[in-house]
Amino acid sequence: MIIKDENGRVDILSLSYDELCEQITALGEKKFRASQLYEWLHVKRVDSFDKMTNLSAQFRARLDELFCLKSLFIVKRLESCTDNTLKYLYRLPDGNHVEAVVMEYNHGTTICISTQVGCKMGCNFCASTIAGFRRDLLPSEMLLEIYTAQRDSGRKITGAVLMGIGEPLDNYDNVICFLDLLSNDKGMNMSLRHVSLSTCGLVPRIRELAELGLGLTLSISLHATNDEMRSSIMPVNKKYNITELIKACKDYFAKTGRRISFEYALIDGVNDSPESADELAALLGGFVCHINIIPVNKIKERNYTSSRKSAQRFRSMLEERGLNATVRRTLGADINAACGQLRREYEI
Ligand code: SAH
Repeated sequence: MIIKDENGRVDILSLSYDELCEQITALGEKKFRASQLYEWLHVKRVDSFDKMTNLSAQFRARLDELFCLKSLFIVKRLESCTDNTLKYLYRLPDGNHVEAVVMEYNHGTTICISTQVGCKMGCNFCASTIAGFRRDLLPSEMLLEIYTAQRDSGRKITGAVLMGIGEPLDNYDNVICFLDLLSNDKGMNMSLRHVSLSTCGLVPRIRELAELGLGLTLSISLHATNDEMRSSIMPVNKKYNITELIKACKDYFAKTGRRISFEYALIDGVNDSPESADELAALLGGFVCHINIIPVNKIKERNYTSSRKSAQRFRSMLEERGLNATVRRTLGADINAACGQLRREYEI
């Protein structure tokens, strides 16, 4: 994607391989120069043109005039004592902040990244939305969340979840461009089978995504079992109700064959009753999917609480009703790894 900064320089990390080739050959350079450049950017992942030692000093100076190569500054780095979870607070080139969390699983190292600075969606249990929305992240900035963590931690990151700050489908074009760069076999080469995208339920975008057939896992933040309950905690439900949402999910599965994952943040006294389990069974019974129960993370603006015990209890209720559910492992609890919390402490 061609994006220019305030000085008219092209954001080089947001260019696809083909776009980079076009830009470089337009300067009268051979195509293999573009391949070398792409490798410096997306495989060796250097943070300045000066470090691209197999390019002439003259060419590097020309690149510096025409293109900007962004980098993220690590403001804070927290490492969990109980598991190996690592949390980063990054400063973006314009002074805004976002968070990313690196988590260790048996199958590899996964990073949770932010897709926007803040969020417009207004879910009332979520720390990311309370400070409001500032702007979308660019494809380059989402890639840099991963490249910077990989360089700093020395860990090989093999998976990514778009579950940090922001609503990925509200930044659709940039996210699709980012996924294309992330999975490019000449670059980071991450399989989209190892990528999950989480959404609060922007139905038209879910339908658009289905058409692309990308192979990623779609996660739906459901959190409630009827429209009255869902609209009271997630304003997006007033626009796209549960019936429309579940229909879009079923069509997504029919189109892509990819099993959908439903996130269910359990809140004591709100969505944890046997009636809620009945309603969930009515919504999802017979649909090949997975339900992830997460005891709600406490945020200071709300009195919401939950516990692993309540989550286990609710899981049993779902199993009795034939649904496939697990309780999400809690990682990095000692470093406040849940989304949005660090940025808020820092900015307000
Ligand atoms: N906007 C996207 C992705 C970001 S949030 C979405 O809504 O899916 C990632 C997940 O964390 C979502 O399922 C979100 O609902 C959940 N979440 C947010 N605040 C939470 C909290 N306090 N406790 C538990 N889960 C929370």
